[in-house]
Amino acid sequence: MSRPVILCVDDERIILSSLKSQLMNNLGDRYQIELAESGEEALEILEELDENQTELPLVIADQIMGGMYGDELLARIKHMRPNTHSIMLTGQATAESVGEAVNKAGLFRYISKPWDEEDLILTVKTGLRSYYDQKEIQRQECYQSTLNQVLQLVITKASFEEQLAQALTTILSTCCFTTLGKGSIYTVNLEQADLEWSTAAQPDLVMVSQLNGGLAPENKLDFRENESQVQLISDASNSRYYVAPITLQNKPVGALYIYIDASYEDGPQTREFLSSVCHILAGMIRISQYNRALEKHSAELEEVVERRTQELHDALRKQEQLNDTFIAANKKLEYFATTDELTKLMNRRCFFERADAEAARAHRYGRKTLLAILDVDFFKEVNDTFGHQVGDRVLAQVANVIVETIREHDFVGRIGGEEFALLMPETTLEDGKEICERVRQAISSSQVVVGSHSIAISASMGLSEVRQEELTIGGAMIRADQALYDSKHRGRNLISLN
Ligand SMILES: [Mg+2]
Repeated sequence: MSRPVILCVDDERIILSSLKSQLMNNLGDRYQIELAESGEEALEILEELDENQTELPLVIADQIMGGMYGDELLARIKHMRPNTHSIMLTGQATAESVGEAVNKAGLFRYISKPWDEEDLILTVKTGLRSYYDQKEIQRQECYQSTLNQVLQLVITKASFEEQLAQALTTILSTCCFTTLGKGSIYTVNLEQADLEWSTAAQPDLVMVSQLNGGLAPENKLDFRENESQVQLISDASNSRYYVAPITLQNKPVGALYIYIDASYEDGPQTREFLSSVCHILAGMIRISQYNRALEKHSAELEEVVERRTQELHDALRKQEQLNDTFIAANKKLEYFATTDELTKLMNRRCFFERADAEAARAHRYGRKTLLAILDVDFFKEVNDTFGHQVGDRVLAQVANVIVETIREHDFVGRIGGEEFALLMPETTLEDGKEICERVRQAISSSQVVVGSHSIAISASMGLSEVRQEELTIGGAMIRADQALYDSKHRGRNLISLN
């Protein structure tokens, strides 16, 4: 790498050699001292410096020279190398030309001939320091601006890969780096990023982004040995590159490779800058990990919700079916609990419940209620002669006849084998007798046909009032039973009143 140059321009050789020896004596060999005898020659040298990318911190120029004047030369240099500091050294300059040089060339200092060596050297040193301070400030500003730009990327809507690609472009375009623009960003396989570093094998590095062939070299940095240090590596093929590990909680999750050319001067600032960049990149990786985890979690949650909803639907449907079954079963149960299966009339228990309720109601409102008991005549003989199936048909027929004959609000139940009870609410004795008579006649005029036989049926009945003071039909039952007994004794197919 060539040393920075201090360019001295004067049309008197003796002045040039004097300047050179004074500068060399005081600055040592840190700088290369270039001499030009005219402005034109100075510009030629400048072209060469440009080609070699050699730094030019300082120009010391005479004002009055053959050809180009010093102020014009300095103005042109200022235009080409804005950071280069300039000192005018002349005995003949007018105030006007000095003013011109200050305005157009940003003249750092004016020294008149003959000069004092100490003054000159002090001025030169101050100029050089100013140049490097300014350069450093520019570099810091540049780093800061790059960091800000990369940081901005974190909150853009772009995908993780796009963010990293943009970040790499931004980092490589940092003015302090050379024009190579070559580099890459690698991240570990994010699926492996949670592995315990101490026990896991070196995770796979996946290249996320690269520019201008900035692939990672074969001998990848071993993070275990080098922890989180930014390193400058010169490899066998004369490539120079920085490798900066990207770490999350001391675990490496990636690496940044930045290629530089031979003229690039390494410094702690650059390493700090790369380290800061890597912090931001680590943040991007972390956010990406969070996002992945969040997406995965959301998907799982959605699946769970969907499954639960389905389960709930299934459970509800099953419950509905169960309810239907339950209701049907209850209806069936109620039916069997209250109905005599053979005749479809109320069974004994149901009849007593309803009849008692009716008795209580009649008691409350002072209404007349009648109770009749009906017994099929010679039923045992029917059973014995024709069998129980025929007996059952007789009972069913008697039940049908009763139901068809009585009034709408009367009700009848089968209370024993061939015994029926009939309750007639709000009925006078006369009306009750008439109803019973209709029933008796209807039964005796009906018959059951079995093959060639026609079985005549009849029934005996006992009738009783439910008395006003009675809250149940218990008493009336006993009295009606006695009346029935009378009917049987008197010859059957009769109605008796108690
Ligand atoms: Mg001169």
